[in-house]
Amino acid sequence: MAAVKSSLPRRQFDVVVVGAGGAGMRCSLQLANAGLSVAVLSKVFPTRSHTVAAQGGIGASLGNMSEDNWYWHMYDTVKGSDWLGDQDAIEFMCREAPNAVYELEHFGMPFDRNPDGTIYQRPFGGHTANFGEKPVQRACAAADRTGHALLHTLYQRNVASRTQFFVEWMALDLIRNDAGDVLGVTALEMETGEIYIFEAKTTVIATGGAGRIWAASTNAFINTGDGMGMAARAGIPMMDMEFWQFHPTGVAGAGVLITEGVRGEGGILLNKDGERFMERYAPTLKDLAPRDFISRCMDQEIKEGRGCGPDGAYVHLKLDHLGADVINKRLPSILEIGHKFANVDATKEPIPVVPTIHYQMGGIPCNYHGQVTVWDGKEAQIVNGLYAIGECSATSVHGANRLGTNSLLDLIVFGRAAGNHIVAAHPERQRSHQPLPQASVDFSLDRVNKLESRTKGERTQVVGNEIRNAMQQHCGVFRTMASLKEGVNKIDALAEKVDNIAFQDKSKVFNTARIEALELSNMIEVARSTIHSAAARTESRGAHALDDFPTRDDDNWIKHTLWYSKGNRLDYKPVQMQPLTVESFPPKTRTF
Ligand SMILES: Cc1cc2nc3c(=O)[nH]c(=O)nc-3n(C[C@H](O)[C@H](O)[C@H](O)COP(=O)(O)OP(=O)(O)OC[C@H]3O[C@@H](n4cnc5c(N)ncnc54)[C@H](O)[C@@H]3O)c2cc1C
Repeated sequence: MAAVKSSLPRRQFDVVVVGAGGAGMRCSLQLANAGLSVAVLSKVFPTRSHTVAAQGGIGASLGNMSEDNWYWHMYDTVKGSDWLGDQDAIEFMCREAPNAVYELEHFGMPFDRNPDGTIYQRPFGGHTANFGEKPVQRACAAADRTGHALLHTLYQRNVASRTQFFVEWMALDLIRNDAGDVLGVTALEMETGEIYIFEAKTTVIATGGAGRIWAASTNAFINTGDGMGMAARAGIPMMDMEFWQFHPTGVAGAGVLITEGVRGEGGILLNKDGERFMERYAPTLKDLAPRDFISRCMDQEIKEGRGCGPDGAYVHLKLDHLGADVINKRLPSILEIGHKFANVDATKEPIPVVPTIHYQMGGIPCNYHGQVTVWDGKEAQIVNGLYAIGECSATSVHGANRLGTNSLLDLIVFGRAAGNHIVAAHPERQRSHQPLPQASVDFSLDRVNKLESRTKGERTQVVGNEIRNAMQQHCGVFRTMASLKEGVNKIDALAEKVDNIAFQDKSKVFNTARIEALELSNMIEVARSTIHSAAARTESRGAHALDDFPTRDDDNWIKHTLWYSKGNRLDYKPVQMQPLTVESFPPKTRTF
């Protein structure tokens, strides 16, 4: 294999982490503290990653305010996942959760406190005591700014540990040799427009979610699924991409998130008749049933003409009865969001809300050490030198539906676990960097050069809007086979347009036109994987609710979907039903 030409500038590190959100920075901290040389690349300043927007809390069975244990947490997570989560990874996460949270506390994370000094915990959807008996207080919170507190704590710790940050750098492609090993990434320095090679013995993808492929989303604009695009182009499948979570309470018309913590504190959903309709659908958990379930109930209320407002297009989230004191203390950002995005004073009036795309359960397949795997028909084979953590990964702890507060937990537990695993494996990888494969680097450069040289073609904004509208129209809270198939045709046609994007401004310095065009090439991979996977799953499970197939089909569908970009190919692999040390939870009907 020819070694790569030396013309591109190169940097060498033990580990390159792509992404400076909660997952990336928890991992890099572990690596830097162990003395490895670590580069963290981020499109934005680290504390602007989407983790900063997380509001409600991080789940851990500390039992500070009501009796709790990790096995109950595990049960809730398996049930929440609608039995598509891997029970080994779920056990690992729930068991590790208390320690991971105490560690954050010791790092200096400013949690809210109880009068006795312990961490404050609020109830959250789907989290219960004694296997579904009643809601439990498990969400550790810093007011309604938990992600903000978490991300700033991790950033400061990383600075102290001398992690090297490359801020406003966009990773473009994985560098993968013929043996399938990953040897680093190509990346664009936004300030200069120059492309560099980052050579690494280990590469970690921590690029977050891709909620921006929908028109109405709670996600940050940078959430364009870059890591998934990179993996898909390098031949790695995307797993369970049909499962996307709609959060029940996005501000109607704006999409901005109102945390589930509002309902955790006692807020309730009302229809136009002032009825607390969740009592009808979920007699035990009511407004604290899991998100997939509540989103469908809201959709139902709206469809059946019980929505609020002039067009009956939303429902009301009432919280004024909590009193101004509680709202000011526990939910200050919600008060502000109500003012700014819905023009209501939440201490006096309800907030208009609709289900809004929020979170992807699927992503890059990996095991609970964070190692990326590909399925060979019999076993999961490890991709040497590549890890994936955080929202872009499918470990899979969330299966078909994630419980609130389990994402921040997943970042911390698996960010740390991946870091530890890389450190433990490092002596073996101590040898010098492997020769870089020319073909893989050329592939990435060709991609950019084609874009650079094209002067006539499709416009990024126009095609981007078409993708977002198609996803919104064909892949919503409720899906039908006919509409999904139409969506498949539209997205496949749009993929051809993405291959023909052109922009006029060819300047190098901070050229956002170039960056947006490159992001679009990642978004389309996510959209394709989503719509193709969804159109093939002929059942309803978790967040995938299909009118034509309204029930869960355990005989045929307890399996993970794998989608390959090349050839638009689908494959399946079994769900890991066997936990690590405890008894498994066999499938049963989900009632709340
Ligand atoms: C509004 C909102 C509220 C939420 N509230 C909660 C909550 O209360 N509890 C909970 O558990 N979960 C919550 N979630 C979900 C949770 O916050 C996210 O799933 C999680 O923060 C994702 O973290 P991450 O580290 O995977 O990625 P992110 O925090 O999204 O970070 C991604 C990083 O990757 C970088 N990146 C991306 N592409 C590239 C590229 N090509 N090159 C270089 N860098 C790149 C970005 O710059 C960024 O640094 C919430 C989500 C939203 C949107």
